Amino acid sequence: MNDAKIRLYVEHSLGQGQSIALSREHAHYLFGVMRLSVGAAILLFNGTEDGEWRAEVIVAGKRNGIVKCTFQTQSLQLPPNLWLMFAPIKKSRTDFIVEKATEMGVSCILPVQTDFTNAKRIQLDRLQAHAVEAAEQCGGTFVPRVQDMQPFDKALAELGDRQLLFCDEKMVGEKPIMRKTPGPWAILIGPEGGFSKRERDHLSSLKQSCTISLGPRILRADTAAVAALTIWQMTLGDW
Ligand code: SAM
Repeated sequence: MNDAKIRLYVEHSLGQGQSIALSREHAHYLFGVMRLSVGAAILLFNGTEDGEWRAEVIVAGKRNGIVKCTFQTQSLQLPPNLWLMFAPIKKSRTDFIVEKATEMGVSCILPVQTDFTNAKRIQLDRLQAHAVEAAEQCGGTFVPRVQDMQPFDKALAELGDRQLLFCDEKMVGEKPIMRKTPGPWAILIGPEGGFSKRERDHLSSLKQSCTISLGPRILRADTAAVAALTIWQMTLGDW
């Protein structure tokens, strides 16, 4: 019986009878905040083939603890081969994009520095932690990797043959229609200032680029990311 409610991501292999020493943060959360004690059950996943395991608390200290895996509750479920490429915006809105992309199902998150991107850098560890938290709460067994920010041209060069869903605010008012080519895809969302002419020209020269409208209104970049992910998942994804 799966009687556990709390899910934690751990960087540790998981398997029958496997003991795991908890980090200080996890021990504090489980025993200080959530008041769990010896014998309580939690769920663990590590983003690998190990999947998700029920584990029982063996040692419950203030700053440390040990849990032991009892049985597997889920196997690894990979998301579709979909990248979300986006120009980072304000901190809390960028956090939102990473969180929603993880919940909605992407394989990789790539912040891109476009001509009109205001953010000069991103806090990679912070964003990766948001992806982990989102996976913990949504029941996912996979955590997408957040890449460091790359210049626009370099990011596009990494696409190879991957199809690209170019969300273009200039298409506002058109019907959102996307090509149904199977295989790997990436979604591209621009910054508050939209895309420059140079970037627009570059994008239209790519044979794999599919330009799409996201409806009759201009959306904020974070809303646009969620809308584009919804369209893609409904058309070619695992929904
Ligand atoms: N300031 C820009 C303008 O008024 O033209 C809008 C940029 S919008 C806030 C940020 C990004 O969201 C855009 O670059 C685009 O990728 C996406 N986006 C927002 N609304 C869209 C729409 N209706 N159709 C397609 N893409 C949209």
